[in-house]
Amino acid sequence: MDYKDLANAIFPDAKDITYYEEKYPERNLKEGAIVTRFAPSPTGFVHIGGLYQSLIARKLANQTEGVFLLRIEDTDQKREVENGITDIVQSLDRFGIEPDEGMISETEGKGNYGPYRQSMRKEIYQSYAKYLIEQGKAYPCFCTPEELEEMRAKQEAAKIRPGYYGVWAKCRNITVEEAIEKINNGENYIVRFKSPGREDRKIKHHDVIKGNVDFPENDQDIVIIKADGLPTYHFAHAVDDHLMRTTHVIRGDEWLSSVPLHLQLFHELGFKPPKYAHIAPIMKNDNGNKRKLSKRKDPEAAVSYYDEMGIPKEAVNEYLLNIANSNFENWRRANKDKSIDEFELQLNKMSVSGALFDMVKLLDVGKTVISKFTAEEVYENAFHWAKTYDKELEEMLKDKEYALKIFGIERGNKKPRKDIAKWSDVKENIEYMYDDKFLAKEQEYPYQVIHEKEDVDKILDLYMEKYYNENDDKQQWFDKIKELAGELGYAKEVKEYKANPDAYKAHVGDVSTVLRVALTGRTNTPDMYEIMQVLGKESMKKRFEVAKKK
Ligand code: GLU
Repeated sequence: MDYKDLANAIFPDAKDITYYEEKYPERNLKEGAIVTRFAPSPTGFVHIGGLYQSLIARKLANQTEGVFLLRIEDTDQKREVENGITDIVQSLDRFGIEPDEGMISETEGKGNYGPYRQSMRKEIYQSYAKYLIEQGKAYPCFCTPEELEEMRAKQEAAKIRPGYYGVWAKCRNITVEEAIEKINNGENYIVRFKSPGREDRKIKHHDVIKGNVDFPENDQDIVIIKADGLPTYHFAHAVDDHLMRTTHVIRGDEWLSSVPLHLQLFHELGFKPPKYAHIAPIMKNDNGNKRKLSKRKDPEAAVSYYDEMGIPKEAVNEYLLNIANSNFENWRRANKDKSIDEFELQLNKMSVSGALFDMVKLLDVGKTVISKFTAEEVYENAFHWAKTYDKELEEMLKDKEYALKIFGIERGNKKPRKDIAKWSDVKENIEYMYDDKFLAKEQEYPYQVIHEKEDVDKILDLYMEKYYNENDDKQQWFDKIKELAGELGYAKEVKEYKANPDAYKAHVGDVSTVLRVALTGRTNTPDMYEIMQVLGKESMKKRFEVAKKK
């Protein structure tokens, strides 16, 4: 009896691997095209780090006319949640990341290299496991969990490296006859890789991001097929990335130390290894300590957070590119109006250690991004967000024509307004433009230099009676405020006032402030001329009346 008999006893029905090699041929892509993937487990939580990896992968595939695919790694069925795949697909979609191939729902995929869900690829893994067993490169292991635990305890007590290797790899030396007999007797087993490695030898590896690294060889006989017939991550990685013809494995750097094992698996399986690019995690500054963004402690670790806050996807994507490549910032400065698609991302320019996540900076990017939106775009986005997260805002935005006027204030010009960082800012930002909201609230009216009731009332009355005309252009409008100031004995020009401060109680700017505060309850607003145009005379009158009653 030989290894072939053993392989047949374990996987009698598995197809010959040539079937799969032919079914998933080399891809016919242009020289230099990158084939890469995002390979999450459907645990019900999409981490911002996953989005970061996908964005990078998607972009590199685009830049090289390659392929980006979404593979679902669900071999650990204990960790799975309902609709976990849909959640991942939708999260990517919300950020504008569309894979060329991969799962598109819980059960369906698109592309010729599928299935793209590992639990649907059981037979494929078994064929390759059989192939290894046939060559004596993998074997069944009959050790019980208790035996393995006992072994671990012994290793620990003797302070020796833990694991299933060398003399500890008990089942490695079981003869084919003995193994077949145990299998026929119905004993439980799993399949292990027979590692050809030696711990005292080193391998050299070049990582696209981390550069040159040395590791001891792998000598662990790791499990490749578990008791449930599904593969472990390591084995599935080798088989899938080979058959999906991945050229670049872009993944989190927690996998860097597995590279010796992975290279060994590729080698023993007769596969050409991919290039590896290990991305450092996104870090957070926690009271001076740098640590990974944590699912448990940091709400911003979840991509759903950005949705809830209404941070536009354009801002998140732009910010992530910012932390991916340090030259992005300069590029943006030189190319203010270009789409981020035009930025040439380079893997080898990614930082070796983790970039710091900075919410203030992200919101700042948000302000710039939104300032470039048209009023219509602001409207559509804010309305869409409000439908899910803010009923009151949704109600306010139902009068689209009016909302567009508000969003049009100081927009589309050279220096557009930059006061909205996220959609959840909108309500607070525009509320005062709605009579029913503004007048329903007790306003504070923070008048400044001119604040005596008598002076304020005089300005408001005279302005309405004599100076305000809705048909004035901006220059006429401003000239009128100057005249009003003059008539009431204030300086018509700030210059005049500064030259002779004792001659005046205040100046034209202070008069403007009175109008602004009476109209909006705020000292700081976008352009007052435009605000008046949007509010219209009737609303202004009402507002002045209410202000005068204070
Ligand atoms: N399923 C693995 C994870 O979520 C994928 C790692 C990889 O990209 O190979 O960490």
